[in-house]
Amino acid sequence: MNYDVIIVGAGSMGMAAGYFLSKSGKKTLLLDSFNPPHTKGSHHGETRIIRHAYAEGEEYVPFVLRAQQLWNELEQATGKQLFLKTGVLSIGQSDSESIHNIISSAKRYSLSLDVLDANEVQKRWPGITIPSDFMGCFEPASGVLKCEACIEAYQELAESNGATILTNSRVKKISIQDERVTIQTDGQTYYANSLVVAAGAWSGDLLSMLDLDIPLTPVRKTFAWFEADEESYNQHKFPAFDFMTPQGVYYGFPSMDGSGIKVGRHDGGLPIHPDESIPGFGELAGDAEELTQFLNHYIPDVEHLKYGKTCMYTLTPDEDFVIDLHPKYSNVAIAAGFSGHGFKFSSAVGQALSNLIVSGKNDVDISAFSISRF
Ligand SMILES: Cc1cc2nc3c(=O)[nH]c(=O)nc-3n(C[C@H](O)[C@H](O)[C@H](O)COP(=O)(O)OP(=O)(O)OC[C@H]3O[C@@H](n4cnc5c(N)ncnc54)[C@H](O)[C@@H]3O)c2cc1C
Repeated sequence: MNYDVIIVGAGSMGMAAGYFLSKSGKKTLLLDSFNPPHTKGSHHGETRIIRHAYAEGEEYVPFVLRAQQLWNELEQATGKQLFLKTGVLSIGQSDSESIHNIISSAKRYSLSLDVLDANEVQKRWPGITIPSDFMGCFEPASGVLKCEACIEAYQELAESNGATILTNSRVKKISIQDERVTIQTDGQTYYANSLVVAAGAWSGDLLSMLDLDIPLTPVRKTFAWFEADEESYNQHKFPAFDFMTPQGVYYGFPSMDGSGIKVGRHDGGLPIHPDESIPGFGELAGDAEELTQFLNHYIPDVEHLKYGKTCMYTLTPDEDFVIDLHPKYSNVAIAAGFSGHGFKFSSAVGQALSNLIVSGKNDVDISAFSISRF
C-alpha cells in the first residue's frame, strides 16, 4: 500500500498533522498502537490549559497565538465547543522568572493581562490564599481546551478529507532507502514518500530506528479531581490556574459542569518506559498527599479527593519541544518531547509538520525547537 505520507502516532500532534496533510491533498495514512483518543499516552484527562503570555519564554507566543487561531477555526469547522474562555491565573513570587516572562510576553505582544498583588488576587477569588510576596497574572482571553474532543474533531475532518486512520496498529519497524519510507506493523507493510513521527512517550524508541538519539525522558504524572463548592469554583467564576510555589509547580482547572476542581503537579515525576506497567494513581506513596498539601496551602476550601489518574510527560533536557526535519532525511518530520506543555500547541504543531513535509519550512518561527540544539 502506497501513500504520500505516513504518520506514526495519531495522538495530539499526529492527528492534527493528519488533518493538515490530508487538507493539502496528500494521500495520508495515520497509524496508532491504540484507538485515539485513549488513556495510554499523554492526551487524556478531559482538559488542558491554553495560555498566551508564555511563562516558558516569549519565543512561544507567536506559535501559541497561531494555535489559538487554529482552535477557533476547528470549532467553526466542526460546530463543536472545544475551547472554554475561563481565563488563566498564574501565581508566583513577585521576583520569579516565570512571572517576569508572563508580564514581558504580554507587553511585547499586546496581550490583555491583569497584574494583581496578593490582596487583589484574594479579593477577586476568595477561594485563594497566598502570601503577601506573591502576585497574580490573569489572562482573560486564555482558558481550557477539551483535549479528547480536540483530537476527535481533527480525526473527523482528516477522515472527511480522505485520510486513512488505522488503530491498534503498532509500528514495529521503520526503514528509509532512496527516500522511500517502509513501515512495518504486525503483519502489514506500508510505503510512503514522506514520514511524520509523532509518537509521544514512545518517540525515543521510534527515532532510534532512524539513527536519531534525542534525549527524551518519559515520566509518570498524576492528577486528581477534588470536591469543591460549585458556587465558588465553577468554570464561570473560577479560572484555570498555574501556581509556581516553593513547594512545586502546580496547575489546575475550575469545576467543569460539576466535575470538581482538577489539580496536578507539573514538576517532578517518576521516569518510566511507556511499555512498563505504570503504577496507577494512589499506588505510589505521596500521590494524593502532594496534591492535598498544595490545596491546603493555597486553595484551602477545596474538599476531599474524588479520584485520580496517571498520564505521561516526555521531557527534553531544556523542556522545550522538538519540531524539525530529520537531519539526515529531508522527507521525515518529527514532533516530540513536549515536556508537559504541548497540547495547547498541537493545532499549530500539526500545521507545522504538514508545512515541513510539503515545503520544508513553516511560516511561524519554530527554530527554537530544532534538533541541532542537542
Ligand atoms: C497530566 C497531564 C497534564 C497536561 N496538561 C497540559 C496542559 O494543561 N496544557 C498543555 O498545553 N499541555 C499539557 N500536557 C501536555 C500535553 O498533553 C502533551 O504535551 C501532548 O498531549 C503530547 O502529544 P503527543 O502527540 O506527543 O503524544 P500523544 O498524544 O500521547 O500521542 C502519541 C501517539 O503515538 C502513538 N504511538 C506511540 N508509539 C507508536 C507506535 N510504535 N506505532 C503507532 N503509534 C504509536 C500513541 O499510541 C499515541 O496515540 C499535559 C500532559 C499530561 C500528561
